[in-house]
Amino acid sequence: MSIKENITFFRTCSSRVPYQLVAVSKTKPNEDILEAYNAGQRIFGESKVQELTTKYETLPKDIKWHMIGHLQRNKVKFIAPFIYMIHSVDSFRLLREINKQGARIKRKIDVLLQMHIANEESKFGLSEDELNELISHQDFLEMKYVNVKGLMGMATNTGNSDQVRQEFSFLHGLFDALKSKTIPGLLEMKELSMGMTNDYEIALEEGTTLIRIGSAIFGERVYAK
Ligand SMILES: *Cc1c(COP(=O)(O)O)cnc(C)c1O
Repeated sequence: MSIKENITFFRTCSSRVPYQLVAVSKTKPNEDILEAYNAGQRIFGESKVQELTTKYETLPKDIKWHMIGHLQRNKVKFIAPFIYMIHSVDSFRLLREINKQGARIKRKIDVLLQMHIANEESKFGLSEDELNELISHQDFLEMKYVNVKGLMGMATNTGNSDQVRQEFSFLHGLFDALKSKTIPGLLEMKELSMGMTNDYEIALEEGTTLIRIGSAIFGERVYAK
């Protein structure tokens, strides 16, 4: 299957729920991204700041770049001017820095809060307690340059689909509960980012609005040693 065919497949693989495809292009060259772009894809996900800024500078300006990887605070300033959405806000300190950089350039930045839903130590993300503490904190309520548009989560990397389903279902429950706490322009539960190559089908069944697909579109990633 070509990249073009893969894009078409993942954009139309469910008619049950309205969702969008984030084509995860990390480690892939511009020519692969352009092939997807020419198939109509405009939303791309990257996980490294340096790679993201280089691609932003060299690729068409109507691409909506999504930052999906762990983000260090000292690098927020490099993506603040152009990033379309940051999925990986996993600490209050990071959110403060994004708000600060947004204020500096007078640009409101859309973000998702990354929740820890997997049964694994290594994955980043907020706990439910940290989430509740964050959204009720006075400093958060005064932030003018971030808009929390939803939640993101990564399920446990397991073949146990019941477990993956439970984790996505839990995340959807948090998402629904937060809808009643909406603050226009600051806390608006619109996007639920869950599902990757190995678990997007379950994510679609559990109500994702953004699937993040990399290897099934562009092929396996080869990391330089
Ligand atoms: C790399 C990555 C993806 C895509 O993974 P695939 O398994 O290749 O689809 C999705 N989400 C995040 C956060 C990633 O880092």
